[in-house]
Amino acid sequence: MRYFPLFVDLRDRLVVIVGGGPVAERKFELIATSGARLRLVAPTLTARLAAARDAGRLQHLARGFAPADLDGSRLAVAATDEPAVNRAVASAAEARGILVNVVDDLESSAAILPAIVDRSPVVVAISTQGSSPALARRLRTQVEAVVDGSLGRIASFASAWRERIKAAIGDLAERRRFYDWLVDGPAGDLVRKGRLPAAARLVATALERRSAAGAASEEPRGGSVTLVGAGPGDPGLVTLAGLRALQAADVILYDRLVSAEVLALARREAQLIEVGKSGGGHSVAQARIHELLSEHAHAGRRVVRLKGGDPMIFGRGGEELEHLQLAGIPFAVVPGVTAALACAAYAGIPLTHREHSGSVRFVTAHCRESVDATDWSTLAAGRETLAVYMGLATLPLLCRELVRHGRSPATPVAFVENGSRPEQRVLLATLASIESLVARHALRSPALLIVGEVAALAEPLHWFGAPPLTDADRVAGARSAA
Ligand code: SAH
Repeated sequence: MRYFPLFVDLRDRLVVIVGGGPVAERKFELIATSGARLRLVAPTLTARLAAARDAGRLQHLARGFAPADLDGSRLAVAATDEPAVNRAVASAAEARGILVNVVDDLESSAAILPAIVDRSPVVVAISTQGSSPALARRLRTQVEAVVDGSLGRIASFASAWRERIKAAIGDLAERRRFYDWLVDGPAGDLVRKGRLPAAARLVATALERRSAAGAASEEPRGGSVTLVGAGPGDPGLVTLAGLRALQAADVILYDRLVSAEVLALARREAQLIEVGKSGGGHSVAQARIHELLSEHAHAGRRVVRLKGGDPMIFGRGGEELEHLQLAGIPFAVVPGVTAALACAAYAGIPLTHREHSGSVRFVTAHCRESVDATDWSTLAAGRETLAVYMGLATLPLLCRELVRHGRSPATPVAFVENGSRPEQRVLLATLASIESLVARHALRSPALLIVGEVAALAEPLHWFGAPPLTDADRVAGARSAA
């Protein structure tokens, strides 16, 4: 290790940057986060640096570099595009015992600036010892993704308890275990949810129990359930919060609709349990799913309930939350990209459009009863876009009812099968003709129906996967009409 990592307090200390171009500007913005007093030596400044000077954020010496400019500084940065000047800065710094970083010149650099992930008070600094700044930046992006913003909050919370924990738990190993519990257990969960008083009560109770029961007592492990939206299939559509939940899970109960690529994001040690079929089918009854959720949570595990799309849209997420609430199991919800949004986006269909549709409605029609219970006159009225989930089985009924209640048979519709996945297919037809097209191409679940003028845009705005399969008759008809 040539460069030893070290965290330096620069608050109110002088830092000198020589140079006034874009590189100096980047260094300035980075170092300014430390609260240092910044002096820039350069004949001219970029517009942003000049603005920073005018705002009083830096002292500007508008001339060439002189060694005495470094006097009294803690750190110097040479960021000009003249190697000779940079070297002069380096030797002046060396002579004064000041750490110096020379941009793009490792040989002259006594110090290098790392890539930083700031979750204050937690700070992660990444360095490749100057060998590959690009790699360091990539690594930083990855760390940014897995270290969530709540880490800093948890560190602050823990530090507020430090003295009391130290007083209550003498043994170092025991104390470490307690901190592990504090960060990973139910108290940490509460801090992440922004419920600080509840978290504080948990820690206080745990410490009291310890002082009553002696050092050997165990903290409650506190299982929990997180409902996570897996999105429509493309793993890129899982949110960062969803990824973190998958990475922290002990057990994952997932629906068949969840793609293998999304499951691959799970923590390797997590136990995977398939509990649901796609569409309306049930390989595991809902009551059994509730039981499984309770069992695993009560055993102190972190349970992720992973559902296709968004867990709160046609996914029985509400019922599961009600069950958890009654069972007294802590829960959280991570939304997902629901099929309507994903299918529309990946088929080039804007769900609303200033000229075609001012609103969109998510509906389902998975069985005869749900079709009968639907208020078709409302759905057929106006130019609203309809996104129909689970509509494959009842398609003929659905189209017939919409037309019967006044929607034109020529209304464009798109059926998106396997939306966002590599095998996505889009059928484009009208209310009158979609049924035969679906039969001709043997469309299968999961598929989402989009009804409304906007659906026709799937043709010109197509960008993903195979172009839409259209109804040849309709296209020919439209041509002869034109
Ligand atoms: N909670 C889910 C919906 C569950 S209902 C969500 O928010 O998306 C299941 C229905 O969703 C399927 O029958 C289908 O209509 C739709 N669906 C889910 N994923 C889909 C996909 N990748 N492509 C097309 N339709 C999909």
